[in-house]
Amino acid sequence: MQYTTSQSLFERAGHTIPGGVNSPVRAFKAVGGTPVFLKSAEGPYVYDVDGNQYIELINSWGPMILGHAHPLIVEAVQHAATDSLSFGAPTRREIEMAELITQMVPSVEKVRMVNSGTEATMSAVRVARGYTGRDKIIKFAGCYHGHGDSFLIAAGSGAVTFGTPDSPGVTKGVAQDTLTAPYNDLAAVEELVAANPDQIAAIIIEPVAGNMGCIVPSSEFLTGLRRVCDAHGIVLIFDEVMTGFRLAPGGAQTVLGVTPDLTTLGKIIGGGMPVGAYGGKKEIMDFVAPAGPVYQAGTLSGNPVAMAAGLTMLTYLHEHPEVYTRLETVGKTLTDGLRQGLDKLGLRYTINQIGSMYTLFFTDQPVYDFETARQSDLMAFGRYFHAMLSRGVYLAPSQFESLFLSTALTDELIDRIIEAHQDALEEIM
Ligand code: PLP
Repeated sequence: MQYTTSQSLFERAGHTIPGGVNSPVRAFKAVGGTPVFLKSAEGPYVYDVDGNQYIELINSWGPMILGHAHPLIVEAVQHAATDSLSFGAPTRREIEMAELITQMVPSVEKVRMVNSGTEATMSAVRVARGYTGRDKIIKFAGCYHGHGDSFLIAAGSGAVTFGTPDSPGVTKGVAQDTLTAPYNDLAAVEELVAANPDQIAAIIIEPVAGNMGCIVPSSEFLTGLRRVCDAHGIVLIFDEVMTGFRLAPGGAQTVLGVTPDLTTLGKIIGGGMPVGAYGGKKEIMDFVAPAGPVYQAGTLSGNPVAMAAGLTMLTYLHEHPEVYTRLETVGKTLTDGLRQGLDKLGLRYTINQIGSMYTLFFTDQPVYDFETARQSDLMAFGRYFHAMLSRGVYLAPSQFESLFLSTALTDELIDRIIEAHQDALEEIM
């Protein structure tokens, strides 16, 4: 494959954009080489500026669960744009959106729309602090909750990929209010809560982690967190920015059977437009201004074009539950095929998969937290990434990411990915 146009654009981008990209995980820094610059996308495919076609398993880091350029969503956006690009005033669609979310995610009784997952998590934590009158939060090492200061402590995703899980620029004052525990380690959480009596406002967690690669929690862990929160008046926040509307219409919480007090949403909820949301118990959400004293606002929040895209996406998912059955099958068939390829060559690996999220870790040990994820052979991952890319399969350029499958993946395309995988492994090992 030729990447000459991407290479020259990357070179040019570096002069005016830090690192040449507008979000760190887009750079190929962890795997080496030049990021491909994309031009268009349709269904399961993306096309780069050099004319290469890829089957991609990133799907814009999650939102494109129906594949790219779904005609219903594109039409809804075009239609909404002719009415207005932005009002900054209330609209009917925002109510429809809130009603649909509260219907699909039963633990969400009231919801506020924002513009990104980061805004959703920052705001949810602020409300939890306002509601409890406490300052500290507990997060889990390797979980990523966006780039709010409180979350860039032992953070996953790009922060770990680039070696800055504790980002410079976060003040000591903020950092001291974020306590961290290993994922899947209830005893560590109990110790933190005991050591900080009546000080913990919230525990925030990805109920299935995607930002240190895909990690599914043990059911005792999540039920244990619920119990600890109930016993100590702590707000339990499920960050479902990745998992919301992806693992089920009601998110990971309905699949795993544990109900949080607050939920944060993003990605799929915008159908590809920049949207986030946070919501949960009425009693807590009524602390948000103007109903209550906790301030949070946004010029473009509930933007009419973004709401049209999101509403069309959620309505489709609501009316087509077979999407989730198909995604289960796609996830299972694909990862079974990948396993067979690895076994055939006698290679060391762990694949974590749930529904349409999965990660192939280059380690033969079980991966259940940040430390076990970090045991992976990152050099082998980098070689595999490039070998797949050159065969027309575009994976996330880091070991510490989940992949996201879409309904646009046909059985034939799954076979093509498995074949590429087999070939790639033979080349790199
Ligand atoms: N929370 C989780 C679990 C995420 O995966 C992300 C982004 O990947 C965020 C929050 C932040 O969302 P955004 O990038 O829209 O700000």
